[in-house]
Amino acid sequence: MGRTKMVAANWKMNLNVEEGAVLIEQLRIGMLGDLKCEVIIAPPFTHLQMAFAAVRGSPIRIGAQNCHAARHGAFTGEISVEMLRSLGVSYIITGHSERRQLFHETDVIIREKVNAILEGGVKPIFCCGESLDIREAGGQNDFVRNQLEQGLFHLDVSSFQNVVIAYEPIWAIGTGVTASPGQAQEMHAFIRKAIADRYGAEISSSTRILYGGSVKADNAETLFSQTDVDGGLVGGASLQAAGFLSIVDAAC
Ligand code: PEP
Repeated sequence: MGRTKMVAANWKMNLNVEEGAVLIEQLRIGMLGDLKCEVIIAPPFTHLQMAFAAVRGSPIRIGAQNCHAARHGAFTGEISVEMLRSLGVSYIITGHSERRQLFHETDVIIREKVNAILEGGVKPIFCCGESLDIREAGGQNDFVRNQLEQGLFHLDVSSFQNVVIAYEPIWAIGTGVTASPGQAQEMHAFIRKAIADRYGAEISSSTRILYGGSVKADNAETLFSQTDVDGGLVGGASLQAAGFLSIVDAAC
């Protein structure tokens, strides 16, 4: 086993550059010294350069929220993996339900992004998770397995080892409704079993599976103490230093 826990902050489209710099400074001060877990901040693209300067000398690493699958070309407004890698970005979030729903990203597009991220030498944080309708109909396992098959399971073993998975039930994202620790554990165990069936037990037991969906200071510890929950992808609660530092504490 020996999985290092991870907490990743997804700022989404929030905070201007100055506000972001203040928040990172508060986090940097709150995270001086060695951490037992990995902490990633994924700010908007416009904040990346500031963020790299602001985290210097701290254990915080910087991620991105999105990328385009092509290496370069006539894609006005888009950002390539190479552009992000050349800044030093270590992780790129992909498959987020907001990208799937609001920006119509299909399984095919997400698979292409996963491939581009890995080929570009960066690591994907691959999001999956069902809607409330699907859960109420009892279809969550089949739905999530299909997302894994479509987006990840074409990878060979050595590529797959660079993937972090985030289970994010859509009904819990930004709603204040959190999956119960039991619901999270059940799905994480299911995902781990699906990975074991595809890549074997050893790879499965070393793959990190984060939980995302209204993680807060007061529920992080119980969620992160579940056997198969290796930390969290945090949206709203990552925008306040004190709350986010408590979440990091719960993982570290
Ligand atoms: C997310 O968008 O990845 C997320 C988990 O958001 P929130 O924590 O706000 O539910």
